[in-house]
Parts: sequence; structure tokens; C-alpha cells
Amino acid sequence: MACSPPLSVACDPQPTPYQSLQTGQWVKLICGASYQDMPTIRRLAMLYALAGVDCVDVAADMAVVAAARQGLADAQALAQRWARNESLALTHDLKTPAIQHYLSPDLPWLMVSLNDSEDPHFRKAHFDPSLCPPDCHRPCEILCPTQAIQFADASTTHAASPDSSGVIPNLCYGCGRCIAVCPVQNIVAQSHQARPEDFSAADLGLIDAVEIHTQAGRQREFAALWQRLAPWRQHLKLVSISCPDDPHIAAYLQDLYAIMAPLEIPLIWQTDGRPMSGDLGKGTTHATIRLAQKVLAANLPGYVQLAGGTNGYTAAKLRELGLVGASSRAKVDNPDSSSIDSDPIKNNHPQWRIAGIAYGSYARTLVMPILEKLEPILPGLLEAKEVEIALPAEKMRYPEDTLDTTDDLGRSQKTASLSTIDLTDDLKVAIDQARQLVGALKADGEANAPGDVRTP
Ligand code: SF4
Ligand code: SF4
Repeated sequence: MACSPPLSVACDPQPTPYQSLQTGQWVKLICGASYQDMPTIRRLAMLYALAGVDCVDVAADMAVVAAARQGLADAQALAQRWARNESLALTHDLKTPAIQHYLSPDLPWLMVSLNDSEDPHFRKAHFDPSLCPPDCHRPCEILCPTQAIQFADASTTHAASPDSSGVIPNLCYGCGRCIAVCPVQNIVAQSHQARPEDFSAADLGLIDAVEIHTQAGRQREFAALWQRLAPWRQHLKLVSISCPDDPHIAAYLQDLYAIMAPLEIPLIWQTDGRPMSGDLGKGTTHATIRLAQKVLAANLPGYVQLAGGTNGYTAAKLRELGLVGASSRAKVDNPDSSSIDSDPIKNNHPQWRIAGIAYGSYARTLVMPILEKLEPILPGLLEAKEVEIALPAEKMRYPEDTLDTTDDLGRSQKTASLSTIDLTDDLKVAIDQARQLVGALKADGEANAPGDVRTP
């Protein structure tokens, strides 16, 4: 039986993102199409990469892409270090406190989000604090999930903007909650459009996938953006189309497919149920599930993946409805096949079950408190020296409490080096929390891991 991702060095490799799509266990982290808090994006990318996501979706901003790439590199460095620690301990028949990890160098994929026209994901709140009534109890500040609203007289102003009041743009991802609660309608949304032209040819090498946010009735705008994306297409491994519900959504998505055809990479239809709401409560997941059922019923070419209101209840609800689990399509189309076809294009066709789930505000809210706690120690952990595994066995000392502290300098250094790469309790808790969310869907894929596709 396959291991839960992330996998131990002793288990099969983690499925590739293609395989995750094919087996209905694709999980994406959404950092936010407008979210530009680089330090947080770096940490989220690192944590959820270690938790086994297939894709990290970020704003179309090269500074954000670079932060996410750094987070993925951090995850690689930690995973490699822990794997070495594991092998080192096994070689010397010692118990290791590290949890088991395996992270392929090309995982997860990095996606950027673009919009073909005005869209709630591509906006930021703005207000003039001098127009706020003095007696306002500031519900905007209380409700903002990212502490993007600050007042200069507050005791907890953000380091990014310590001397001013208002919205800190990099921290705002456009959820609109402040706008809805302002008693004097002082807050407005400022829309923006992500421009593919802002990326150079060299930048495109850092991007694996693109997502286009659109809405029914925008065939012309979509076609124009698709045209502008021509230089991108040869670099991409996947394209995702994110669309909210509409009475004519099936016909609209069919039109979009015709615009994109012929498409030589996998396609995801992202069903954007209730945007940026997954952290608000259990019920927010229903809209995206209903929309996913609608899109599945339309039998479009491509994979169907949920977003917009997804949270810790989504996978369980999908399971209850019989909508999760490996797709049988590869086997149905090719009954002689005993495994999933390695050609992603061949399987880029309708699925009768959902291919995956994307988590945004819920994923962020879930781990932020512990990430904030971890922040003081993470830089030191990431800069810790590599273990020198080439040392002769007789020089090894592990664990620390068995060390003869009167040993020579080489032995003491060795022990110190091992100690610095151990997981802290807080980091283990953070990874476990993220893994629980990611694993809620991937657990269904375990029994149907690549090479073990079964017809339901
Ligand atoms: S509540 Fe939402 S829209 Fe308002 S500032 Fe915070 S993140 Fe931005
Ligand atoms: S809720 Fe509106 S009026 Fe009150 S502090 Fe916030 S922006 Fe100002």
C-alpha cells in the first residue's frame, strides 16, 4: 500500500501532479491572486509543499513568484536534510525524531493567476482614515483575516507600515469583508488586471502553470487574453480556468474550450463556488460542490477541481456524495491497461468524479497562528549546517543525551549539527495540520495510487 504524502524515503515516490489529477487526489494551495505578503507566501509554500500539495497558486507578480520559489526551495532543503538524518539514523540503527519526508525536486508546481477582466480576486480594499468617524469601533480592523487594516495609534501596527493608517496593500487579498461591515461605506475596492506582458521570457521558466479567472459571457475578453498568452504556452504544464456559477456556465466553458483548442496540456475547470470564504464556516463548501456537480454533468473535456469556500469539510462531503476517488476513465478507455497512462494529454478528457480540491483562505487560516510562533526559529533552522554523513561510524553520536560530552571536538560538533536539524515540536505540529488538510483527499487516492487504478 502506498504511503500518505509526503512519503518516506523507503516508500514509493510521491505521485506527480499529473498522476494526482488522474487519480482524483490533486490538491492545490491558493495563496491568493492579489496577496503579496512575500514572507508569508514563502512560509506557506514551504509548509504545504512538505505537506504534499501538487500545486501552489500565487499572484502574477514576479516578486511573489520568487518568494514562493524560495519557499519551495526551503521545503526541498528541509526534506533533504531530514531524509539524510533518517538514513543516518537507520545506518546506525538509531531512532530519529524526524518525521519521514520525501519531496521530489520538481514538486509542487507553481501556478500564477491572471484575469481576463474585472474579478473579485483581483482587487484590494482602500480607504481614507481621515474620513472615519472618531467613534467607529473599527469592525474593518477586527474582521480583516490578514491584519491588512492598521491604525497608526494602535499598539500593534504592522512592521510593513508602522506609521500610517489604512489598508496595507501587500496584505490585502480582496476578500471584501471590511467593505461589507463599514458603517459609513468608507472602504472601496480597487480592481487591477494582471498582465502577462509583465513577465520576461526568463521569468516564464519559473512558472509551471497558469490560471485564468473569467466569468460567463466574456468570450471576447478571454480570447484576447489567450492570444496574449501565446509566448507562455510552450512553457506551461497545465492550464486552469476558474469560473463562478452562472445559468449558462456549461455552454460558456464549452466556448472557452473551443477558443483554446487544440490544447496540448492538461486542463482544469476550477469551480469557484463562494470566493475567498472557506475560513468562514462549514457551510461555505456547498456552493462549490453544487457547481462542481453541474460542471461534471456538462461532460466537458478536462478535469474538475473545486475552489471558493473549500475547507476541512469539503473532502468528507465529497466522499459522502461519492464524488471522490480515482477516476476510472483511463481504465474504461483502455481496458487492457493495468496502470495509468503516462501521457497526460491522453487522459485530458471528462472525468466522472472530481480531480481535486484547491484550498485558499482556510489553508492559510489553519496554519497562520503556528507559523507566527515558528517565525523566530525558522531562519536558523533553514540555515542549519548539513549533516556530515561521511564520518566513520565510530565517530557518530546520537541522540544527544547519550553523548559523552568529554569527547573530542569533532564528536561535539557532529552532535550539535544533528540537533539543529531535528524537527521542533511546533514545526511538526504545523506540518501535521497541513498534512491533515491535504491528506483528506489524498487518502482516497492511496488505494488507487499510480499503478493500482481500479474500476469502481
Ligand atoms: S478584510 Fe479583506 S478586503 Fe478588507 S483589507 Fe482585509 S483582506 Fe483586504
Ligand atoms: S469600519 Fe469604516 S469608518 Fe470604521 S474604521 Fe473602518 S473604514 Fe473607518
